[in-house]
Amino acid sequence: MENKTQSCKRLVLVPCPYQGHINPMLQLGTFLHSKGFSITIVHTHFNSPNPSNHPEFTFLPIPDGLTEHEILSGNLVAILLALNANCKASFQQCLTQLMEQEPQNSISIIYDDIMYFSEAVANYLNIPSIVLRTVSITNFIARSTVLQLLSKGSFPFPESMSRDPVPDLDPLRFKDLPISNFDTYENYSKLVVNLHKVRTSSAVIWNTVDCLEQSSLAQIQQQCQVPIFTIGPLHKIATAASTSLLEEDMGCIAWLDKQSHNSVIYVSLGSVASISEKELAEMAWGLAKSKQPFLWVIRPGSICGSDWIELLPQGFIEAIGERGCIVKWAPQRQVLAHDAVGGFWSHCGWNSTLESLSEGVPMICWPCFSDQKVHARYVSQVCKIGIQLENELERGEIERAVRKLMVDDDGKEIRARAKELKEKIEVSMKGGSSYHCLNELEKLIRSF
Ligand code: UDP
Repeated sequence: MENKTQSCKRLVLVPCPYQGHINPMLQLGTFLHSKGFSITIVHTHFNSPNPSNHPEFTFLPIPDGLTEHEILSGNLVAILLALNANCKASFQQCLTQLMEQEPQNSISIIYDDIMYFSEAVANYLNIPSIVLRTVSITNFIARSTVLQLLSKGSFPFPESMSRDPVPDLDPLRFKDLPISNFDTYENYSKLVVNLHKVRTSSAVIWNTVDCLEQSSLAQIQQQCQVPIFTIGPLHKIATAASTSLLEEDMGCIAWLDKQSHNSVIYVSLGSVASISEKELAEMAWGLAKSKQPFLWVIRPGSICGSDWIELLPQGFIEAIGERGCIVKWAPQRQVLAHDAVGGFWSHCGWNSTLESLSEGVPMICWPCFSDQKVHARYVSQVCKIGIQLENELERGEIERAVRKLMVDDDGKEIRARAKELKEKIEVSMKGGSSYHCLNELEKLIRSF
């Protein structure tokens, strides 16, 4: 029988150019490379990954046609729609060249669901393709509900409805629905309709774990015509080299080494969210008043109106002394796995959520937009391993939340549940559902 590994199957991976999407795609690439596949990353110039971190992959840039104006607008919906419109032709050309250069190799494509132009090209060139979804299944279902509500003209809903439960989506309330404020409802719908559809692809890979989303998974399996492989958490499946677009400040690990067990609250709002000067001040004084050591990622440009930490309130740095460490970007997976870290104040992006849950680190959830609101509700109300900050940020409330999560007796159960969930996730990877799905995925790819 022919050994298909020997015949060198090339997998072309198409990540969406944002940190929360690049990470799982490169982690998947690392896993598949370890199984003997050749990996090519086709990426946009915008937010290009760093090839020198991954000498095992081939990187092929394609023109994305984004203007400076579009990029600076920060309008994610408009940028993603533009990418899909602009990249199709260049991707097709790139694949055609690849097929001519390596006629002996068979090619398959794995693309981020947001880069749905890839599926059209795959279909045109008769290449097998698979979709990678990088947010939770629960969020996917909530987005489908948003589409239905939008088509009925139910948005924007009156403020009086914001705390009402959404039918069939318990415990989500209307205010938790993943609607985007970046663009018109029409453009948001256009994007979501396109990325939700599986037209000709052979399977869906989902960066999630069965034990986290059992009922959502059962629901989506009934609707989906192709196999779904729930293989997460991907960062645990493959310990990829750094996939960061920004330079990681490793100095914070030396700082963590000096802190005691479970004492540090790690604070990060991910790669896109930004905050106001007022929110910054409340965060700063809340952390200071909690008296817990903290490691705080403040991304350059993430505070409106400043380059970095110029707007931190006067007297704050002196007040915290050695008790706080502020960095521009952290090696987050390493931070969350560190013995000193006992809590994570997060915006609840799906990667951050998975990274925290799989290290047994309980969370303070402060979602900023879109899917983060779904995940925050899920972490606090379903998993019950987090405390959601619901109102405008206020230093006293922050201080209480940090102390409850990290030290007070009334946070004991949250901390215990976080550890239990970590163990369940480990079981999924060691012979359980994720392990099984990875094997099945590998078999499917070899069968193409
Ligand atoms: N991250 C990191 N260092 C930081 C902050 C974030 O490496 O200082 C990583 C984090 O581990 C996660 C990703 O950036 O994998 C952020 O993705 P997520 O889905 O949590 O949020 P997004 O940035 O998409 O809002």
